[in-house]
Amino acid sequence: MTIRGNGNMMQNSRLLMDSMYGKELTVGKYLDPFKGFEEKEMHFETRHDDITGVTCRILPGRLRAQVRTDMNPYLEKSPESACPFCPDLFDKFTPKFTPDICRDGKFKRGSAALFPNAFPHSRFNGVAIFSSKHYLSLPELSVDVMRDGFLVCLDYFSRMKDVFSLLDFCSINWNYMPPAGGGLIHPHLQTVVAEAPTNLVKKMCEKAKNYHDMAGRNLWRDIMDYEKEKDERYIGKTGAVEWMTCFAPRGMLGEIRFIFDGKTSIGSLNQDDIGDLLSGLCRIFGYLDAKNLFSFNLGLYATFAENDHLYVQGRVVPRFVLQPLGTSDSNYFEKIHDEIICPVVPEEQCRELRDLF
Ligand SMILES: [Zn+2]
Repeated sequence: MTIRGNGNMMQNSRLLMDSMYGKELTVGKYLDPFKGFEEKEMHFETRHDDITGVTCRILPGRLRAQVRTDMNPYLEKSPESACPFCPDLFDKFTPKFTPDICRDGKFKRGSAALFPNAFPHSRFNGVAIFSSKHYLSLPELSVDVMRDGFLVCLDYFSRMKDVFSLLDFCSINWNYMPPAGGGLIHPHLQTVVAEAPTNLVKKMCEKAKNYHDMAGRNLWRDIMDYEKEKDERYIGKTGAVEWMTCFAPRGMLGEIRFIFDGKTSIGSLNQDDIGDLLSGLCRIFGYLDAKNLFSFNLGLYATFAENDHLYVQGRVVPRFVLQPLGTSDSNYFEKIHDEIICPVVPEEQCRELRDLF
């Protein structure tokens, strides 16, 4: 099939876009013990995003508001005195690059430093810290505090591209706090640079190529137009960055995506673009903090070479544990069946976030 068109969002490519977002409604029943065993209907919505491959079940209103978490137990178990990223132990306990990559051993920029991960999960897996402060709460993660940390990642990517010409895929990632997999309280980013993409990035590139073959248009461009036109999940814009909630989130508390409009390689990002990203992130952090959440996963991915099939983009997934037991927000449905249970409705979450943008 080939569908071609010019100008604004064409009807055909809109239909194609609609077909990538699948939705099915189901109603279940049970006799409710809290209402004299009256019959009660339960509404489920199963969603599938063909572009990311995520299948998600939206179960509205099944989550209680979070109470604010006392951070002291975390800080007691992971104190400054034992932290390899705090100034006292930093030089002694953090790895250095070999001289072919970095003569000084570590990439430095302002208050930030980037060095090899001591426990790598990839041939080139770096860690970047952006502050000597051991604990930074979400409201303390300002644009100025984070900027050097993201920029030092760009410095590193640029150097890696010079040294290893076959590398093409890079990402900046963040497990903020233990519910998101963070093993240290001290805020740190993780970089991955590789010749091959991860599963998700590979899938997204393939989908974008197929879409271009069928519609003669850029998938990421059309997604931004589609979401703006639909006006259901489009949150807003911070400079060059467009923000949306995901149709089929990969987290129990939803998922927020961002796309750098028209940026097709990591090298095309400049300092202003990073500022735009961080400005949006701060708003997301404000949203999480207002909901008494304190943890998230973040990823930004891109190619080194200019690649129309992958606009530079990423996503933020809020993470949490259910109280009082500290129950994980990941369960058998996700781990065993590869589907997500999500009590947050992406369109409602979008409306909440819009007020902050
Ligand atoms: Zn520390």
